[in-house]
Amino acid sequence: TPGFSGADLANMVNEGALLAARRNKKKITMDEMEEAIERVIAGPQRKSRILSPKEREIAAYHEAGHALLGKLLPTADPPHKVTILPRGMALGYVIFTPPEDKYNYTRNEILDRIAVALGGRVAEEIVFSEVTTGAQNDFEQATELARKMVTEFGMSEKLGPLSLGKRHGPIFLGRDLVESRNYSEEIAYEIDKEIRRIIDECYERGRATITEHREGLERVAQALLEKESLEAEELNRVFAGLPADLPPAPAAPAAAPPAAEAQPEAKARPEPGLPKLKPKPEPS
Ligand code: ZN
Repeated sequence: TPGFSGADLANMVNEGALLAARRNKKKITMDEMEEAIERVIAGPQRKSRILSPKEREIAAYHEAGHALLGKLLPTADPPHKVTILPRGMALGYVIFTPPEDKYNYTRNEILDRIAVALGGRVAEEIVFSEVTTGAQNDFEQATELARKMVTEFGMSEKLGPLSLGKRHGPIFLGRDLVESRNYSEEIAYEIDKEIRRIIDECYERGRATITEHREGLERVAQALLEKESLEAEELNRVFAGLPADLPPAPAAPAAAPPAAEAQPEAKARPEPGLPKLKPKPEPS
């Protein structure tokens, strides 16, 4: 649960307890906790929401696009789970797990994050040559990050290490903060241009990466259509062209030895009775 606040954790344990009670369990198990984590991140599962086959297919490629970029871009957080089970407002989602709690991000990490946020739309465009409204929230995220890079983090080479615009009001009100400008119209124009440039570059990088790994995208999306959810290890196997499920574990050595030994022996034994073919002499 990296990135969870104390309140998120309390909420998660509470959800886990409610689920366990509903399932008549005396203890909260990992099953309930996994479900509780996803509830905190993405809201309750919407089993009643039925997607049309086409919507489902688009959702699969969209989420596969996010997941692939999370997996492939060098400083992106790796995907922990990708699913096309609707939850909350989302038709599907990817949970990314940073290796640890993080409070400080490098420029490249933020750029990768923006590219990952755009990955859903990129995949839709590559595969269907048309796009849906499903990426609205992704764009908000990507644009917000790009704006922060330019106006708050001083990460735009063009505008330099400046803090542009002062934000008032309590942090928890989020995007409804009142912004007061401390810059000219001309700078406002430059800010918008920089944000657009960052978004465009991240989008192009995402498109190049997914295009290069188009087969992997195809495999992951098809596996999602079949299984609905993929955990990190399954995702990695599918991407590599292996089946999502591990082959059944080999039988325990104690029970197996006769069979295990007999087989290679049988194979190695030469077939009796068949004369060896001699190479035909070359006609001279
Ligand atoms: Zn998306």
